Parts: sequence; structure tokens; C-alpha cells
Amino acid sequence: MLGADFVNQLETTLDADSGNQQTGTRMTHHQPAIETSPKVSDEIRKTTCYMCACRCGINVHMKDGPDGKKQVAYIEGNRDHPVNKGVLCAKGSAGIMQVNAPSRLKNPMKRVGPRGSGEFEDISWEEALTIATDWLKPLRETAPEKLAFFTGRDQSQSFTGMWAQNYGTPNYAAHGGFCSVNMAAGGIYTMGGAFWEFGQPDWDRAKLFMIFGVAEDHDSNPIKMGIGRLKANGGKMYGVNPIRSGYNAVADEWVGITPGTDGLFILALVHELLKAGKVDLNYLSQFTNSPVLVNDDPKSDDYGMFLRNKAGKMLVIDRKTGKTAAFDKKGVKPDLGGTHKVGKTPYRTVFQLMAERYLSDEYAPDAVAERCGITAGRIRAIAADIARVAFDEAFELDIPWTDFRGDKHEKMQGRPVAFHSMRGISAHSNGFQTARALHMLQIILGSVEAPGGFRFKPPYPKPVEGHPKPHFEVTPGKPLNGPHLGYPQGPEDLGLKPDGTAVRIDKAFTWENPLSAHGLMHMVISNAHAGDPYKIDTLFMFMANMSWNSSMNTSGVMKMLTDKGDDGEYVIPRIIYSDAYSSEMVAYADLILPDATYLERHDCISLLDRPICEADAMADSIRWPVIEPDRDVRGFQSVLVDLAVRLGLPGFVDDKGAAIYQDYADYIVNHQRRPGVGPLAGFRGKDGKGVGRGEPNPDQMQAYIDNGGFFEQHIPEEASYFKPWNAAYQKWAVEVGLFDHEQPYLFSIYSEPMRKFQAAAEGIGEHQPPEHLRAQLKRSMDPLPIWYSPNEEAAEDGGDFTVNALTQRPMAMYHSWGTQNAWLRQLHGHNPLYVPTKLWEKHGFKEGDWAQVSSPHGKITVPVSHMAALNGNTVWTWNAIGKRKGAWALDEGAPEATKGFLLNHLIHELLPTKKDGMRWNNSDPVTGQAAWFDLKVKIEKVAAPAESQPAFPPIKSPVGKGPKNLAWKVGK
Ligand code: SF4
Repeated sequence: MLGADFVNQLETTLDADSGNQQTGTRMTHHQPAIETSPKVSDEIRKTTCYMCACRCGINVHMKDGPDGKKQVAYIEGNRDHPVNKGVLCAKGSAGIMQVNAPSRLKNPMKRVGPRGSGEFEDISWEEALTIATDWLKPLRETAPEKLAFFTGRDQSQSFTGMWAQNYGTPNYAAHGGFCSVNMAAGGIYTMGGAFWEFGQPDWDRAKLFMIFGVAEDHDSNPIKMGIGRLKANGGKMYGVNPIRSGYNAVADEWVGITPGTDGLFILALVHELLKAGKVDLNYLSQFTNSPVLVNDDPKSDDYGMFLRNKAGKMLVIDRKTGKTAAFDKKGVKPDLGGTHKVGKTPYRTVFQLMAERYLSDEYAPDAVAERCGITAGRIRAIAADIARVAFDEAFELDIPWTDFRGDKHEKMQGRPVAFHSMRGISAHSNGFQTARALHMLQIILGSVEAPGGFRFKPPYPKPVEGHPKPHFEVTPGKPLNGPHLGYPQGPEDLGLKPDGTAVRIDKAFTWENPLSAHGLMHMVISNAHAGDPYKIDTLFMFMANMSWNSSMNTSGVMKMLTDKGDDGEYVIPRIIYSDAYSSEMVAYADLILPDATYLERHDCISLLDRPICEADAMADSIRWPVIEPDRDVRGFQSVLVDLAVRLGLPGFVDDKGAAIYQDYADYIVNHQRRPGVGPLAGFRGKDGKGVGRGEPNPDQMQAYIDNGGFFEQHIPEEASYFKPWNAAYQKWAVEVGLFDHEQPYLFSIYSEPMRKFQAAAEGIGEHQPPEHLRAQLKRSMDPLPIWYSPNEEAAEDGGDFTVNALTQRPMAMYHSWGTQNAWLRQLHGHNPLYVPTKLWEKHGFKEGDWAQVSSPHGKITVPVSHMAALNGNTVWTWNAIGKRKGAWALDEGAPEATKGFLLNHLIHELLPTKKDGMRWNNSDPVTGQAAWFDLKVKIEKVAAPAESQPAFPPIKSPVGKGPKNLAWKVGK
């Protein structure tokens, strides 16, 4: 363990020209007189890490500084914490360099130079908040939709969403639309939860683990620990990814699939399993909609819809009686092969539709092998391996449980096959259906919520009907009529005005992308610039680097942000931005609200949002100011509370206009979303003993601090698996406030809401899509999982662009907003374009060479490097390493700014013009998920330029430049 002497004498030397850093130690003693058990700190403060989205517990070791203020000496993992159990990654340890980074913004600022110049004047908070209020107040009274409020990797969306709802704008979302909404929505519509942080493998009981499209993930440390446990138990891991990086590097078998074809590979596995009869018929019959009867008359207006009784319940054929029965009737034994007629209308089961589709030769390994870049023999072998483990290594747990029909089960049936997936399959235009296909694969094995399989973390699972629908009703001076984001159940839930145009600036929830549950942040600036569907007045963003690595068409976005109209005013008139660091986006804002770092403010990682739960326990956590800011900065959420009071927003002021909450910490403790249910579940009620439900407890925050920064409540053993159908789990979930009533449901292999959209595209129903979108909707809204070729491959002028191009976030910087971190820069100071052997040899590359990489949209010139463990027709690079000169307080000669680069310049938010003259969204047509990974390029060897291209002029740094040597002494 690194001791205090090491830390106290730490000096990190940052050579800004080369980017090489030496973290040197000047020891006060020389070997061998080493103090092996030094006093590490004066005090330990326990909070939650925010160096990525994993939400690990950390012990922040503090020392009293020379001025008497507490200083961070070092950070270690909290061994008692449910998420990481003491494990800390490189990012987590490097938090000390994050909270001391020279790039931290220091005070509120208003722009004084042209937009994009980086010229600002420091102002007081009072002036900043007065400016913001003067801009936002009249807007709310006249046209609240002219505020577009979008947040980046915000961990307080239940709060920011409520703020936006009370303001009254329909234009709110976080960054999910350009990250992995396909993963979330594909999971919710299929099984009421997804991978992401909605669930996790049953690490101790899984025997086969297959991971798709994951380099690093939100569940960072748990996956690392889990893989260790899996392997220690003799389990096997498959890594399906074009690039053998991250977790794939430790997989027992790497499957270097062609990007965008995961869905095809998965459906070939489904084909093989169905053909071999290796599916869990009992599970399918009891817990999924496989036995539900579907209208099979193509001439009927209800074609493809479920047969329901008068109460609206789905009907199945009961094997005991041969008659129809409600799916949830006590004792019913649903028949997977039943058929039925109502009058002349035939009905058959979802299972029959599945079998017909997936047993088709179209999905045979031989038919898909070449496209997927995996031999047919290997696909068959993997399917056989999955079947062997799922069925030959099946086991039972001696835990009796009762299902929602009242049927008692003496044991819990285990299926030790678990899957995990993330952005690699999600960020394609076929990602939603691919996510659905993967869920179908694990469902037909009977492994979801079974011991050994994939398990949900509370508050998931929740049926799609248990989630809100999106709301769009705008009334000047009033709140929006409900939450912005949700899950449409049919065309009637779309956000369209009477003239058919979009209610939202990002065109979420329209026929172009009906199920856009997280919005389309990547379309906000381009739509606002184009005035399509309308012009806005103020763009308000938090923690989203939209003028750089968070946007497609980066150069275009910079231009949109600085363009002026004929009247000489900016096309996007006002931009307010909040960030803790001097990111590239800062230069493009008019008003800067500087955020505090994660160790300087309150946060809650709430069950209302994305909690820290584990499959065995519900849990949530807090952050609190373990150090005081040494700058004039404020936590963004507290600033929103202040702004809300100045704007008089309902929910934030009482009848007399007085503030209900003093700041965000006050909100966290005292806000009630529903009576007795608030942002934090633990230590509720006057006595602090309430779990999930109870009155606000004024001592709640301190109780969390005293408890190590988190609260945890274990799920009773009989409720621990089969949660969607387990009566004990449903009862417990109501008791602890996860739901207000029990809501058992069936997994939706067949999605009726999707069929409603597809039927509309076929001309059925009152709500009809525009003609040009009918074919796209018919194809993409298929109610059974399907695979289609990704956008760019299907673009009509794909031309010479035949090489797949991808990015990945490095483990050491995954979700680390601030890759300027002096320690982490040592791991990734610049990013080459990695080229597979076949292309390397074809182009005659040598190490040190450069390539021009072009797409239908643009060109970049970048350094190349050889990588053998890579799909043969794919190039890739680390994402977001390249920096703009002048940003992040880095030297203009820093390698991030001279050799680093972004692939974003090659990706446009619109696809190339089609034959009909139209340019379509570069997004999944189901959810609007940004299709980053559909990119196809051409590469050519070129002479090395002085620096990577395109090179942009420097922006003026509002925080100056960091010193060559970062050094400080901790302690007295
Ligand atoms: S950076 Fe992420 S994985 Fe690492 S300790 Fe922090 S929260 Fe955990």
C-alpha cells in the first residue's frame, strides 16, 4: 500500500511538450529505512467516486493543510461498499489529480469576445444568476419551448428532469440518445430492464459468460471482480467484439465479429438452439409472451395484435382445458403451440411465429457466416457450448418460491449462462433490434432472473407499461404536463403537433424515431441551427462537450454555434453552459456557471434515477463535500435550485414564492416524489429507521455519511430470483417503495407496441406516418427481433468507403470527464489509428506512418499503428483523447492537441443524400440512438504532416495554462 510519505512527497512532472510524465518520488528516506506502516491520514471521509459511471465507494484520506483546511491525501476503495467492495481502479485513484487539476473553472464568466474565441470576463454569482434569470423568465412566460435544456453524463436526471418539467419546456434530455439508449430501450421493451446498470450476471453461479460490444462499462469494477470470480469457479468467457481490448483481452475465446452484424450472429445462435430443441420451453410458456395468441389474418385491422379478454388481459390456450384463458389465471398451463379461431379470424402463438422466423435458412450459420466474419462451424460450436452449459450444467437451488399465478415451485431452476452487452452493439442503426435479439437469446435459454444467469438490480425489473409515457403539453408560464421522457405504447403517444411537426427540438418521439426514450441530444444543435422544427432562444447545457468529442460533425457544430443570421445576431441566440473544467465547449457559451468537482459537492445516486443497487440488494448513495472548493464555484444542482427560486418554479417555491429548498442537499433530504418516497431510500422517517418509505428525516444526510456514504437493504432470499414473477419480490418491492402496487408481467419476445407502429406504416389506424417513412417503419418496427444492414452500409453512395471505423473509450479514461488528468494522461497521451494486419500489409504501413482517413463526410490525417487482434476490415482509435489547442489548460504543443485526433470529424448527423434527394438521420430509426459505429471509411498512406489534421486554431484558455510541474504538499 502506498503510504502517506509517498503521497506527501509526490510530485508529478508534466512535460507539456512531449506529454511524457514522470511521477517521481523524492523520498525523505533512502532504502532500506522505509516506513512500512506510516500514518496515512488524519481523517477518512467516505463518499462515492465519480471518475466514471460505476459509482464505487471510496475512502478519501484527508490531512490538515498548512491553512488548517482539509486536503485530500489519497483515495482508496471502501471495503464495505456494495459496489466495489474495496476495489479501486486507476481512474478512481487519480481522482486526486482531478480535484486539483489546473483546468478547473474558477468563477462564473460572461463572454466578451466572439463566440468560440474563449474570451471571458469573470463575474459574480449574483450577476451570473441575474443574467440567467433575465433570459429565462420572460421565455417561460411566453414560449418555454424556446429553452433547450440538455445535460451530459448527469447523475441527477430525476432532479434535472423535474426542474425542466416545472420550467415548462418539452426540450429536456440527458446524453443517453448519443450513448446507449438502444441498450436501455431494447431491454425495457423486451424484459423490463437492460444490461447497463439495470442488472448484472449472477457472477458466483454463472459458468459461461458472453460479452458483446463492451470495452469498458458503467459496471466497471463489478465486471472486473465478476470475471475473476467466474474464472476462479472454472467458468468460461467469450468476448464478442471487433477489437480485442478491455475485457475481451481476458476472454477465453475472442470472436472478432464484423461491426454491425452482432444481431445476425445472435439470431444464428437462436436458429441453432431452436433447431437442436435446446430452449427452455417451461420458462417460455410460464414467463414470456411466447404462448400468447396473435391475430394471424393479414387482412384484419388487428393483424399481429394479441387476443385479449374484456378486461384487456392477453389470452393463451390452457393445456389442461384446451380453451383460452387469461395469461395470469391461477393454475393456467399456457400452450406454446396452441391455435384458435374467433369467428373466421385465426390466431396462433408468438412461439409459432418465432419458430417460423428463426428456423428459416436466412438465419442458418452458413447464410450469415461471411457477413459476420465468423465461420459457420464456429457459430455452431458456440451455440453448442451455450446449450451444453445451459442445460447439461443446469442446477437447482433449494429455495421454494411462489409465482404470480399462485403456483408454488419447490426449487429455483438455474441456467448458468449469462450475457452482458453495451455500446458496441447499441451505437448502430440496427442496435435496438440487436439488443432485442440478445435479450431473446437469453430468454429462450431460460436464464434471465434464473440462478446463474442475468439478474436485475432494483428498482428493475419494471414492465414497459410501468414506466411513464413521454409528455409534450406546453403552456406558457406553467409546468409541462408530465415527465419528458418515457416509453410510448403506440402512435398515439408520439410528440407531434396537429400539423405533424415535432413538439421537441430534437424530434424525439416522432415517426422518424418513435421510441426515443432518452431524446436525441446529438440533433439538438443542428436542429436549433436549422430552425427545424423551430428556432430556440436559449441552449442550456451541463457537462456535455458538444463542440468537440460529444458531437458528430464536430467542425459543423462549431460553425453552427458561431453562425450569425442576417440581423447580425447568433443563430442560436444564447448559450448557458455549466462544467467543472475548461472543456472545448466552454468557449462556445455566453454564460458559464462553474460546477464544483465531485469531492466538493452533494449528490445523490438515487433509486429515482440510476441507483447503485446490486442484484441481491437495493442500495443508493450520496456524495458530500469532503473538501471545500478553493474557487468561486457551486454545485450545478444547487445553482438550479437557486435559479428555480428566482424563476418562481412550482415545486421549488411555496404559495408565497419563498424557497422550499435552500440548496441541493436540502432537496435530497426533503423532496418527496410520492408521499413518503424521496431521492434517498435509507434512514427515512422521524426515527431514521424507515426503508424506502417514510417522512423526510432531517438527519438523513448525516446518517448516510456515518454509514459510509451508502444505504443497502437486502432482498429476502425467497424473493432473490425470478423477480418479475416472484410474488415475494413483488410484495417486498411495494413495501420498500420501489412500486406502489405489485406489477408482475410477461417478457415480451413479441412487442405489441412495436406492431402498432408497424401496422400504422401499413396504413392501419388513425395516426399515420408520412409516406417517406412508411418503408423504414415497416422494417424497423418489426415486433419480433430482426437484423437489417446498418445505415451507412445501406447508403446508396457508399462508394469506396468499405472499411469499418470504430472508437472505444480506454479503461483508464472511461467516462472520466477530464482526460487532462495528469496521471491518466501518462497512460493515453495520444491515440493512433489501429490498423489490422491485412490492411496494414495491403497499404505497406510501418510504425510511425500516417494515413489519410476519409468518409463521405470528411477527411482526417492521423498516425497509424499495427494491431493484430482486430477484425480484418476494421480500424479503430481511442475516443476523446484528441484535444483542441487551448482547452483543458494544456500546453498548445501537448500531444493530445498535436497527435491526438477525433473520428467525429468523419461522422455526420445526417446520412449522405439518398436518390430521392433526402438526407436521413444518422440514427437508429427506432430510438434515434446516434449510429456512431456505422461509420465506413477509406484509408490511404500519406506523408506525415506536422500534426494531425484537421488542426483548429487555438482557443483562449479562460483558466490559463497549467504549470509544467504539478506539485503540492499535503499536510503541514
Ligand atoms: S473510476 Fe469508476 S470504476 Fe473506478 S473507482 Fe471510480 S467509480 Fe469505480
